[in-house]
Amino acid sequence: LGSIFHLEAERNAMMLENNDISLLIDIVKKDMDILEKRKFLDEAPAKIKDITKKIEEMEGELSDSQESLDKLEEERRHLEREVSSQNDKIVKKRKEQNSVKTNKEYKALGHEIQYLTGLVDKEEERILSILEMVEVKRKEIRVISDKISSERDSLIEEKNMLERNIKESEDALKILDDEKLRKLTHLSDRVRKLYLKILKAKHDSGVANLVGDICQGCYSRVPPQMAHEVRKNEKILTCEVCGRILVHYESE
Ligand SMILES: [Zn+2]
Repeated sequence: LGSIFHLEAERNAMMLENNDISLLIDIVKKDMDILEKRKFLDEAPAKIKDITKKIEEMEGELSDSQESLDKLEEERRHLEREVSSQNDKIVKKRKEQNSVKTNKEYKALGHEIQYLTGLVDKEEERILSILEMVEVKRKEIRVISDKISSERDSLIEEKNMLERNIKESEDALKILDDEKLRKLTHLSDRVRKLYLKILKAKHDSGVANLVGDICQGCYSRVPPQMAHEVRKNEKILTCEVCGRILVHYESE
């Protein structure tokens, strides 16, 4: 009779461990999910910042180009006014030359005309080079505008999606934490304590899946006999390298 009780106790102990292991499998799946969501939530703000920066840079580039185009056009208009007023002066001085009395006066006016003509030449040269620069700037602005119109919307969409995902991940994380807590309360005291101790040390999870012969917690190889035992999911076994409880399930 004693041995029957003994067998019964052993069977109960095994069932208990079985139950613990199926709970631990649920828990480690949730831990992985929680980890992934936390990682996303850690990285998302920087991604959003990058996108905002990209949009601002494109818009800044466009307004810089527009500004330098405006400056060139302004300079061109100014030079054109100068040229026209100098040409007026030249015409006036040529008329004056016809009515001067001395050779000296005639020559003096000639020098003035020469000086003004020199100015006009320089200004016209500058106007020509401005026109070339304006052409280049206009092309530049077209390229940037095209880039903005093709990229801006998708960047904004990407940013909105990240913001939506942040909200969703935060909500999902709350649910996962709740569900995990509930699973934890169903573990036997011994296993729960063990799990919590390892979790505290490892931060990600107190449990690791065994894929092939590899512990997914520390990626070290588990001895074949032990791997064989782990795959049965009957006993609480821990990885010799990282100390995580080893379980086995098919990972998606
Ligand atoms: Zn390990």
